[in-house]
Amino acid sequence: MPKAKTTARGYGHQHQQLREQWRPQVEAGLVDCARCGKPIGAADAWDLGHTDDRTGYTGPECQHCNRAAGGRAGAAVTNGKRVELRHSRRW
Ligand SMILES: [Zn+2]
Repeated sequence: MPKAKTTARGYGHQHQQLREQWRPQVEAGLVDCARCGKPIGAADAWDLGHTDDRTGYTGPECQHCNRAAGGRAGAAVTNGKRVELRHSRRW
């Protein structure tokens, strides 16, 4: 039975557990994307985002934002907004 796909992609156990903790809230439509601030819809794809320096988690992000930030260094995308995020969300 195939499982632990995300582990194979390099995400650890802690990441998956945290994602599972967020899942009910995201699927209930209660969570806003940590990067763009838009609500993540119950049917939307989302990822648990990291801070750009990878020292912590920002929380759920819509997949569009997560991919955009992870694919590059992340600096150009967020225009200083990530500094605020770091202060308002502590993990
Ligand atoms: Zn977003």
